[in-house]
Amino acid sequence: MRHVSSSSATTTPGPSKVLLAAPRGYCAGVDRAVQTVEHALEIHGAPIYVRKEIVHNKHVVEQLTERGAIFVDQETEVPEGEMVVFSAHGVSPVVHENAEARQLKTIDATCPLVTKVHVEARKFASDGYTIVLVGHDGHEEVEGTTGEAPENIILVETEEDVEGLEVEDPDKVAYITQTTLSVDETTAIIKALKRKFPNMTGPKTDDICYATTNRQQAVKELARECDLILVIGSTNSSNSVRLVEVAREHGAASHLIDFHTQVREEWLEGVETVGITSGASAPEELVENLVQFFRDRGTQDISELRTVNESVRFMLPKKIRDGTAATA
Ligand code: SF4
Repeated sequence: MRHVSSSSATTTPGPSKVLLAAPRGYCAGVDRAVQTVEHALEIHGAPIYVRKEIVHNKHVVEQLTERGAIFVDQETEVPEGEMVVFSAHGVSPVVHENAEARQLKTIDATCPLVTKVHVEARKFASDGYTIVLVGHDGHEEVEGTTGEAPENIILVETEEDVEGLEVEDPDKVAYITQTTLSVDETTAIIKALKRKFPNMTGPKTDDICYATTNRQQAVKELARECDLILVIGSTNSSNSVRLVEVAREHGAASHLIDFHTQVREEWLEGVETVGITSGASAPEELVENLVQFFRDRGTQDISELRTVNESVRFMLPKKIRDGTAATA
């Protein structure tokens, strides 16, 4: 049965049911990065420069801009001696060198799980391996990781790329991955790499992070129950884009939106159950706005489909902890 709101001005019928994926939204790395900028503003006052978007979400960037953060593309744009925060996606050693040359005061909000991949890159490089990095060309995380060992790293994006891969010593190959890829696609690429380089080594534990894995698993379950899945997230958010792909691969129509105002009426035609999830960089208030959008259309059956509980938390960067203690 479909519902029509009697109190709302709109006559657009809502779906019978809205199901929210759980877990969804903010991961520990994003939470830490956003809090880092917030605390930096409180401790040091505006302006605080931030290299790149602190996390890939329009709303978050707009809110921090209002509070006095200035987002720049490169550290070389930051006036000498000022404070700059490096984003959750990580930076290459060259960025640290440039910042030092400009006497910038730096706070590194790189997610510890991205740092883990950087450490692996350095280790494999120092052991003389050719490193195959599975990731997306142009993504900030890939740029940062590649910068750790530019001479040793080859980027691979697809199974087709693996076929054409030439390395100096096929017995001395290691792989690492971006943290926010499709779990299934990456598994297939790694299998193809292992076929080509049977002696290939890799990280001790997966580089695709817990948050990416859990959100993709949750959206797969959601896709079984829903005709349509709306993913809250920005177009430059890798893990959000992957959620749309996974939802479609598992049989649901799916769209990526930054805000509830972007929902198109035609997407809702004939839809009985709508699923909602959000990328690891999307704040929960945007999900709440979308739920309200459906409430206003008369949907009353709103519940959560939980696949796993998450309890991961990361400590804030030391400079922020020290600064907070000093001002307490
Ligand atoms: S998506 Fe994963 S790697 Fe990226 S910030 Fe979140 S926890 Fe860290």
